[in-house]
Amino acid sequence: MYKVVMEQFERAADVMGLDPGVRTILAQTNNEIVVHFPVKLDDGSIAVFTGYRVQHNNALGPYKGGLRYHPTVDIDSARALAIWMTWKTSLAGLPYGGGKGGIEIDPKKYSQAELERITRRFTYALGDNIGPDLDIPAPDVNTNSQIMAWIADTFSSTKSPSTRFANLHVVTGKPLGAGGLEGRDRATGYGVVVTLKAWAERRNENLRGKRYIVQGFGNVGYWTAHFMAMEGATLVGVQDASGTVRDPEGIDPEALNTWVEQNDRSVAGFKGATTLDADGFFGIDCDIVVPAALGNQITARNAGRITAKVVAEGANGPTDTEGEAILRKNGVEIIPDILCNSGGVIGSYIEWLQNKRAEYWKIDEVLKMIHDKITTAFASVASTAVEFDTDWRTSAYIVALRRLEKAYKERGIFP
Ligand code: NAD
Repeated sequence: MYKVVMEQFERAADVMGLDPGVRTILAQTNNEIVVHFPVKLDDGSIAVFTGYRVQHNNALGPYKGGLRYHPTVDIDSARALAIWMTWKTSLAGLPYGGGKGGIEIDPKKYSQAELERITRRFTYALGDNIGPDLDIPAPDVNTNSQIMAWIADTFSSTKSPSTRFANLHVVTGKPLGAGGLEGRDRATGYGVVVTLKAWAERRNENLRGKRYIVQGFGNVGYWTAHFMAMEGATLVGVQDASGTVRDPEGIDPEALNTWVEQNDRSVAGFKGATTLDADGFFGIDCDIVVPAALGNQITARNAGRITAKVVAEGANGPTDTEGEAILRKNGVEIIPDILCNSGGVIGSYIEWLQNKRAEYWKIDEVLKMIHDKITTAFASVASTAVEFDTDWRTSAYIVALRRLEKAYKERGIFP
C-alpha cells in the first residue's frame, strides 16, 4: 500500500507542479511509533503484542486517523494509511493532519476481556504520543466504539482527575454514552452514498434501480448498503473475509446484517442468496462496485472483470496502480478513497467539536454537515479535474496538496 500511495502522490505532484520543498516534506512521515507491550491472557500466560502509530503530517492540525486490529498491520501499512489520512483531511477542509496505526493481531483469537486488556495496555504504551490536541485515533478495521471507549477511559484515567473531561476526546467513534456522536457509526457509509449520488447527478441519473456489489460487510459495507437501499439501488453481491454471496434479484441488506450479527460477523451461509466462488466476485454483472474491506483488492488479476461504470472506494487503498490502469483503460470511473470514504473523518471531526464545546448534536444536523462537506469536496475535485485535464484521483490529491502547500508557504519552516 505504501508503494501505491507514493505513486499516487508523485503523479499528482508532477501534474500540479508541487513546490519541491513541500514535496520533500510530504514524502516523509513525521513520527513512527512502535510499541511492544505485555498482556496477561485469560489462561494466566503472558503474551507480548506489537502496536504502531504513524504520524505523517500535522501542518493543518492534530494527526487524525484510525486504529486497526489485523494480522496485516505493520509499519508499512500504517505509513501508507497515515499518508492517505493527511490527503483526506486536507481535501475535506478539516483542521487535521494524518495518522494511522493499530495492533498486529487477529482479534477473533481473543476474548472480550483479553481485548480490553490489550487495548488498555496499548493505550498506556502509546502514552503522550496521542492526545486530544496532538493525535486523535478512531475506529478502523476490527475496532469499534467499545474499543474507543476503553482507549478514552484509559488515557483520561492516567492523567490528573482535573483534566479527565478535557481528555476524553483523545479518540472519536466513542459510544453515545461516552461522548460519542449520533450518526458516527453510519458516517462513512452515508458519505459513500453521498458521493455516488453526486456521481449519478453529473450523469443526469440517480441511484434508483442501479445494481451494485459490496466487498466487506462491516461498518462501511453495511451502512453503504443501508443508505443505497434508501436510494432504491439493488445489492446483487457481497463478499467478506468468510465468503461470497450473490442474488441478481437483490439481497436485503438488513436481513444480511442480522445474519452477520448472529453468525460471527460472517456473510457465509446467508440463506437469502446463493454462494459464489471468491474469484467470481468482481465479475458479477452490476453498475457500481463498492470495495469496503482491505487495501489492494482490485488488481491486475481482477480489474479486467469489472463491468460496472464506477468504483466507489469505501475502503482505503482498495485499487492498486495496475488495477487502476486497467479500470481507466476500460472507462470505469473511480471515486477515490480520500473523497469517497471521507464521511468517517468528517463525522469524527464533528464528534471532536461536540466534545470540545460540551454539546450534543442531533443526527439530522450531523448528516447534513457531512453531506455539505462531501458535496463541496466533490465539486472541487470535479472542477480541478477539468482544470488539469486529469482523473479524479489525481485531482483529489491536487486539491489536498494545494491546501498543504499554501499552509507551508504562508507559515514558513521553523526556525
Ligand atoms: P470492519 O472491520 O467493520 O469490516 C471489515 C470487513 O471487511 C468485514 O466484513 C471483513 O469480513 C471484510 N474483509 C476482511 N478481509 C477481507 C478479505 N480478504 N476479502 C473480503 N472481505 C474482507 O471495517 P470497516 O470499518 O468497515 O473498514 C473497512 C474499510 O473502510 C477499511 O479499508 C477502512 O480503512 C476503511 N474506512 C473505514 C472507516 C470507518 O469509519 N470505519 C472510515 C474510512 C475508511
